[in-house]
Amino acid sequence: MTESLDIQTRLLHHRHKTDPHNGAVSVGVQHASTFHQNSLEQFGAYDYARSGNPTREALEEIFAGLENGTDAFAFASGMAAISTTFMLLSSGDHLVITEDVYGGTFRMTTEVLTRLGIEHTFVDMTRVDEVKATLQDNTKMIFMETPSNPTMKITPIRDIVALAEAHDCLTVLDNTFMTPVLQRPLDLGVDIVVHSATKFIGGHSDVVSGLAVVKRPDLAGRLGFLQNSFGAIPGPDDCWLIMRGLKTLHTRMMVSQEVASNLAHWLDVQPEVKRVYYPGFSDQLGNAIHAGQSDGPGAVLSFELADREAVSRFSQAVEIPVFAVSLGAVESILSYPAKMSHAAMPDHERVARGITDGLLRLSVGLESEADLKRDFRQAFDSLARM
Ligand SMILES: *Cc1c(COP(=O)(O)O)cnc(C)c1O
Repeated sequence: MTESLDIQTRLLHHRHKTDPHNGAVSVGVQHASTFHQNSLEQFGAYDYARSGNPTREALEEIFAGLENGTDAFAFASGMAAISTTFMLLSSGDHLVITEDVYGGTFRMTTEVLTRLGIEHTFVDMTRVDEVKATLQDNTKMIFMETPSNPTMKITPIRDIVALAEAHDCLTVLDNTFMTPVLQRPLDLGVDIVVHSATKFIGGHSDVVSGLAVVKRPDLAGRLGFLQNSFGAIPGPDDCWLIMRGLKTLHTRMMVSQEVASNLAHWLDVQPEVKRVYYPGFSDQLGNAIHAGQSDGPGAVLSFELADREAVSRFSQAVEIPVFAVSLGAVESILSYPAKMSHAAMPDHERVARGITDGLLRLSVGLESEADLKRDFRQAFDSLARM
């Protein structure tokens, strides 16, 4: 029956909604690092907590269902989920990866995978012909992130999946910006969905965690093996915080998305703003594709001011959003990609990707739209006093 329910209901009603032993309406936090075995012949369901922990397992089961997958794997961070997924590759393999990928994924690819003999090619993932041209005999994985960070470029997921299928290579998609509430890549044929659960999924700026989800049994086996081998697992308290966050995920996404959409249109007509990037703008390249593969534009937008000085002034003057690395929280978060999420990227690479010194990213939280607009307006007014 749960299969047919809407996602907002499935966030709350699943196998783990009550404890079978005591009826508790919250998953128990199991701190044990090891589990007593009755005999040499008969091991229980758990032996050692890196390999399996009931609290983590509850999170993994709940989350697999939300992405319409069969198996999910929880990790100590989004980067741990991504890095462990990269361990599916071997020396001599080639990775095709979107050029405006998250800064940490860029760093892992260019500075770690290269050292392990795994080649890569960065590509404009919005251009299917260009992606096709980068495929080599040893290409084993295509890594997507859509909408991309922070310029909100849209990858045509179905087209890339078709290319990968013809080439017999894996597809991975970083779904952090959308969450399963707005985009379910496994349904579109993607093999592995990865997340930073630190963002919208946790949602309260109080936990660092990651997830990977699959629906192919062979991949479930290989990723489960790597999760245990690599060992970058989250602790039970963090798993509990993520499950707590999930309960309000749909509600938070809907409210934040609506305010983000209204703010994006408002920012677009403020004279101090040169440009706004938001997947909800119907006239922006790729956004029609986004509408056909997701259930909404999300709650993150970017906007460009004149230069670094304007950004500096604006970020000092603005009062409501926290000025910080990260996104996807109940409080709005303003960040400066050039020095935050993309600090790991060399300047020329960064500017070539449109991540200029004037670009700010805004993740909209749950504040009142009117308050945010008033605050932004007074901060823009301060620019005139430069
Ligand atoms: C934050 C983020 C990551 C990395 O996740 P951590 O939890 O910080 O390790 C990966 N991808 C995207 C899109 C992110 O925003």
